[in-house]
Amino acid sequence: MMNNNTCPCGSARNYSDCCGKIHSGREAAQDAEALMRARYSAFALQNIDFIYNTFHPTTRRFQNKKEIATWAQACKWIHLEIIRSTVNTVEFKAHYLDEEGQPHIHHEKSSFKMLNKQWFYVDGKIFA
Ligand SMILES: [Zn+2]
Repeated sequence: MMNNNTCPCGSARNYSDCCGKIHSGREAAQDAEALMRARYSAFALQNIDFIYNTFHPTTRRFQNKKEIATWAQACKWIHLEIIRSTVNTVEFKAHYLDEEGQPHIHHEKSSFKMLNKQWFYVDGKIFA
């Protein structure tokens, strides 16, 4: 899907200067939006461990790596649209194609919390 090194999150920066730094652990996400972008890129690149590990510990136990992987792989992630961000929320639309190639939009307002100077995803309200 990536025919150059542009970051999947749509920042127009190189992956290695954008979400790649966060995925590799070289840098912590500076804010909730940076973590949200990194999680989107992780879906696009099927970095399941990153998605799993950035769930807040209070919600991580409800997650299942296999289910995350199934969802990440079933969809072709096209592009991310950030609607608005606050200190601890990000509303976004993730555009993707399903297994039949039909376009869909996942519209969500996510909540994030900081713990030991790192941002984590807590939960999200999904808009129908
Ligand atoms: Zn990025």
